[in-house]
Amino acid sequence: MDELALLTDLHAGNTRQGPGGDDETRFAIALAGLVAQTGLRIADIGCGTGASALILAQDLDADVTAVDALPGFLAALEGRAARAGLSGRITTLAASMDDLPFAADSLDAIWSEGAIYNMGFENGIRAWRRFLKPGGVLAVSELTWFTADRPAEIEAYWSREYPEVGRAGAKIALLEKHGYTPIGYHALPEACWRENYFRPLAQGFEAFLDRHGADAGAQDVIRAQREEIALHDRYARYFGYGFYIARKTAA
Ligand code: SAM
Repeated sequence: MDELALLTDLHAGNTRQGPGGDDETRFAIALAGLVAQTGLRIADIGCGTGASALILAQDLDADVTAVDALPGFLAALEGRAARAGLSGRITTLAASMDDLPFAADSLDAIWSEGAIYNMGFENGIRAWRRFLKPGGVLAVSELTWFTADRPAEIEAYWSREYPEVGRAGAKIALLEKHGYTPIGYHALPEACWRENYFRPLAQGFEAFLDRHGADAGAQDVIRAQREEIALHDRYARYFGYGFYIARKTAA
C-alpha cells in the first residue's frame, strides 16, 4: 500500500489529524472578530476530517470550503457534517494547498490548523494572501519554538523534519513582511497534542499493524509516529503549536 493510503487508513477514523482543540479554535475565532459577521466565505485548508471546519460552520454565519489533498479525509468530513446537520454549510474540495482555485479577493477568512507546514509557512502565507478580501483574516497554527534554547536532540529532530520551525516573533515578522497585520497569537496547551491528538491516534496503532503488519511502509509509519510522541513527552515545554491570527493589510 502506498504511503498516502496508509496515512488515510491510520488517521481517517479520528476527529483530528494534528494537535489542536475545540476551545483553541473558538478562541481564535473570537480573536479574529468573525462572530458577529454575516454571509462569510471561509476556506479551511488542510482540513483533514474537519476538526475546525465543523466548528467554523457551526458557530459562524458562514459557507466553509474544506480543502484537503486526501479524498479519504474529505469523505470522513462529509459524514461528520451530515451527522451534525451542517452539510449545507460545508463544501469539500480535493485540491493541493499550493494550487487553489479561489478567486482573488474572494474570502473573508482562511483557516488552516496544523497544515501550512506542508508547503512551508512563508510560502503559504505569501500564496494565500491574494485570495483574501482586503481586511480578511488568516488564522493558522504552526510549529513554534517556545524557548530561546533547546536540548540538542529536539533541536536536531525538528530542524530535520521541519526546517522552518521558529519562534513566534519570527513568524509574526514574516506575516508583517508579507502584507498582514497580526491581531492575535496564542500557544496551544500541551493537552492539544497529548490528549486530543496523540492519545486517540496511539489507540489505533495495534489494529493498524494487524491490518498492515507485513507492510514495511506501515511499520515505518508507526515507528515515526511513536518517535514523535516520545519526543513530545520528553520535550513538550520547548515546542508546540502557535496559533497566528492576522488581517490582510490594505495595499
Ligand atoms: N487541520 C486538520 C486538523 O487539525 O485535524 C488536519 C491537520 S493534518 C496535520 C495536515 C492535513 O494537511 C492533512 O489532512 C493532509 O492530508 C493535508 N495536506 C497535506 N498536504 C496537503 C496539500 N499539499 N494540499 C492540501 N492538503 C494537504
